[in-house]
Amino acid sequence: MMTDRVCRTRTEQIVASDPNRVVVFDTTLRDGEQAPGFSMSAEAKVRVARVLRDLGVDVIEAGFAAASPGDEECIRRVAGEVEGPVFCSLSRASEADIDAVHRALAPAPRSHRRVHVFLGTSPIHRSAKLKMRANAVLATAVRAVEYARSRFDDVEFSAEDAFRTEPEFLAEVLEAAADAGARTLNAPDTVGYATPEEVKARFRKLSARIHARHPDVILSAHNHDDLGMAVANSLAAVEGGARQVEVTVNGIGERAGNASLEEVVMALKVRVDRFGVSTGMETRHLLRASRTLCEVTETAVARNKAVVGVNAFAHEAGIHQHGMLADSRTYEIMRPQDVGFEGSWFVLGKHSGRHAIAKRAETIGRPIDSERMAAVVSGFKQRADQIGEIDDAELIAIIDQAERAADQKVLRYA
Ligand code: MN
Repeated sequence: MMTDRVCRTRTEQIVASDPNRVVVFDTTLRDGEQAPGFSMSAEAKVRVARVLRDLGVDVIEAGFAAASPGDEECIRRVAGEVEGPVFCSLSRASEADIDAVHRALAPAPRSHRRVHVFLGTSPIHRSAKLKMRANAVLATAVRAVEYARSRFDDVEFSAEDAFRTEPEFLAEVLEAAADAGARTLNAPDTVGYATPEEVKARFRKLSARIHARHPDVILSAHNHDDLGMAVANSLAAVEGGARQVEVTVNGIGERAGNASLEEVVMALKVRVDRFGVSTGMETRHLLRASRTLCEVTETAVARNKAVVGVNAFAHEAGIHQHGMLADSRTYEIMRPQDVGFEGSWFVLGKHSGRHAIAKRAETIGRPIDSERMAAVVSGFKQRADQIGEIDDAELIAIIDQAERAADQKVLRYA
């Protein structure tokens, strides 16, 4: 059992000073970047890493150093050009991989370097991929963590495919990794198979067992979205005692992606009444992080993407617009400014009603007289049926037409 724990790692310090603080570990530049269509140049990675730093991300996983010389160089650039967060690289459980991480993270101060060693622990990974028996997996994990600790103070160990691993064996491997000096223990749902109830129960058990022996060790969750449960599972892990969440901007990542950073962070913030934890995030940079990633990868998020989609704070339906004009809390649970939007956005279309039309007309300096209101609304609905969204120029044309029609009526009756 390791006893040289006089110095806590940066993330251990964060959680030790506030047990309700959740460490945000961003893997956009590793798990995200390794998904098809999301490759990034070194310049792109540095740009994204700068926004992640502004956001207040605690740990940035910048790549997989042993994957290619290019990946190693990208990590070196990020670790050398961005300052603040802890920088991390993924590593297989081998000395050569750990050495590659050591080279790649050399530009960062020692206290800001983490190696993230992983090894498959589930029956299918042991038999099909590793061709190793359980006891050999356990011994390999321990040897790799011990070697990693000879090169780094901050070592994270991941039991790959943890949620399809026998619960007792998973706990045994993680405990052995902690005994060997790992400071963060990750129980990833590598294949997006678990449900929130299962995740919460598993973390509760792991926490009881691991923290009895290693109170400072941080349990970490890494969830994939194959069944659309990555965010729910990450939140369930926090409820079960995890104090690190591994997330990505826009939820990019292998296959259906990882838990989305913006969704997990805003769920923890908006529902602090339920979760009772905080992150160190400056959430007003969330939209910028999403847009920067879209820009460098030439991708887009869906209009209806939670938190950062263009529809996240847009309202078209008349009943909703009427409610929003009275009090934005009728239809919004967070302030758009808190995630980086300038404000809510009313889209005028066939679903809009007279309150929203009148409000917009007033805003653009063309208030509508009450006697002309009916004509404007009628003209508006006809036009909206034809073209969909009514922008300001269209609205002015509709008001003009209603005024002309009214003037003609006056002339006729004169
Ligand atoms: Mn993953």
